[in-house]
Amino acid sequence: MTKKVETTETGWNFDNSYARLPKSFFSSLNLDPVHSPELVIFNSSLATSLALNAEALQKNDGVEVLAGNQVPESGLPLAQAYAGHQFGHFTMLGDGRALLLGEQITPQGERMDIQLKGSGRTPYSRGGDGRAALGPMLREHIISEAMHALGIPTTRSLAVVSTGEAVIRETNLPGAILTRVAVSHLRVGTFQYAAGLGNVEDLKALADYTLQRHFPDVDTTENRYLSLLQEVIKRQAALLAKWQLVGFIHGVMNTDNMAISGETIDYGPCAFMNTYDPATVFSSIDTQGRYAYGNQPYMAIWNLARFAETLLPLLHDEQEQAVKLAEQAISDFQELHIHHWHKGMRNKLGLFNEEKEDEALIKDLLSLMQKHQADYTNTFRALTFDQLEETALSGTEEFNQWHEQWQERRGRQQESNEDSQQLMRNSNPAVIPRNHRVEEALEAAVEQGDYSVMERLLAVLLRPYAHSPEQEEYAKPPEPSNQPYRTFCGT
Ligand code: AMP
Ligand code: MG
Repeated sequence: MTKKVETTETGWNFDNSYARLPKSFFSSLNLDPVHSPELVIFNSSLATSLALNAEALQKNDGVEVLAGNQVPESGLPLAQAYAGHQFGHFTMLGDGRALLLGEQITPQGERMDIQLKGSGRTPYSRGGDGRAALGPMLREHIISEAMHALGIPTTRSLAVVSTGEAVIRETNLPGAILTRVAVSHLRVGTFQYAAGLGNVEDLKALADYTLQRHFPDVDTTENRYLSLLQEVIKRQAALLAKWQLVGFIHGVMNTDNMAISGETIDYGPCAFMNTYDPATVFSSIDTQGRYAYGNQPYMAIWNLARFAETLLPLLHDEQEQAVKLAEQAISDFQELHIHHWHKGMRNKLGLFNEEKEDEALIKDLLSLMQKHQADYTNTFRALTFDQLEETALSGTEEFNQWHEQWQERRGRQQESNEDSQQLMRNSNPAVIPRNHRVEEALEAAVEQGDYSVMERLLAVLLRPYAHSPEQEEYAKPPEPSNQPYRTFCGT
């Protein structure tokens, strides 16, 4: 039996609404304790925002919970069931190495899932060991916190605990557990699982639960399940635009890795683009470029179509009508996405109002970046601070022409150039988590137990719009290399 710990000091205050869904949606878990847990990263500000006692959590009893060795008294450990299309192929999945402790309820009434990732085997582990290696968990910590700082909806990382146990991959690696915080872990794949059960009542229970949890203010009087579909589409359209605007490549946009809430979830082989090229892929397993940078909005549409299919029995009694409603809703994605993307791109170029020619202005700049292999982030940074000599575009006749057009366009708006520059400072990050910097930080931490490199990197990434002198060093792109950078799934 799992030992439960008192939580007056640490502040854990769980509700377990997910556990009130039909039993087929989850499996209750016993803990699988680890040998000698040690807290290696702790996110004090996130702890405080969750009404947790940061100090108490870092002491022994606190760490025992973050390691999955003990459960807070209000916790109810469970693994969630889900399915998913992985690179287009349908599979039954579920939390194979994660455990939901419960939903932390803050004094403001917010409800946040607290999940341990790497916590041991579950009924959904298939052949896996249920564990995670330290490097990939630190990587998730860095990238998810950087995404949050960039203003992109994402799951967060509260802590990483090393387990003192080895995980066996190609070699033996140090094991770790990450505490993931999310508005929920409901996925497109959760709905695929529900639809696969073939029981409309269970599907309806999940849809109603989702509406109540994520869209309580949405008008559902006309067709509540169509409203659900439309809202999820809206959030994904906004999210995908935000990814594209900072050059983020998720890497495994399988339907089980798409959150219904519109948060970015599951940081596996993700990475940020350096030189601008829509075909950029980093993931070693994405051999076809299915989830390449420029393909991501189309893949989101594909995933949302799978989501819509699960809702068909709830959308209309007649299948044909249901399909029509679903298709209409899906067809809205593109316009919504483009709207957010154009708005974001205008911000990046310091443009407040909208002109018809803006699309051409944006596209021309991107083509020039692609042609001259310019760094995506640094080109916008250079435009912001008028330091164009630092870019690969500098000195070319085509770019000079573009620049003149842009200056004219800026001059046609009412706002001053100072205001325009301020908008650009707030829209163009000084730094992104560049792969070579992330790798360097992980190597120091994992190989030498030196976390100072990672801490310095995090300090810079957590203020991406500060444009401070110490960020200069971190803004540099990697030295050109013959080998394309590859990220691995890190399971
Ligand atoms: P991911 O690629 O991280 O989205 O994972 C896909 C599926 O594989 C999910 O169901 C995970 O829970 C499961 N999984 C990944 N790694 C492991 C592991 N080491 N042991 C058990 N299940 C795993
Ligand atoms: Mg996943």
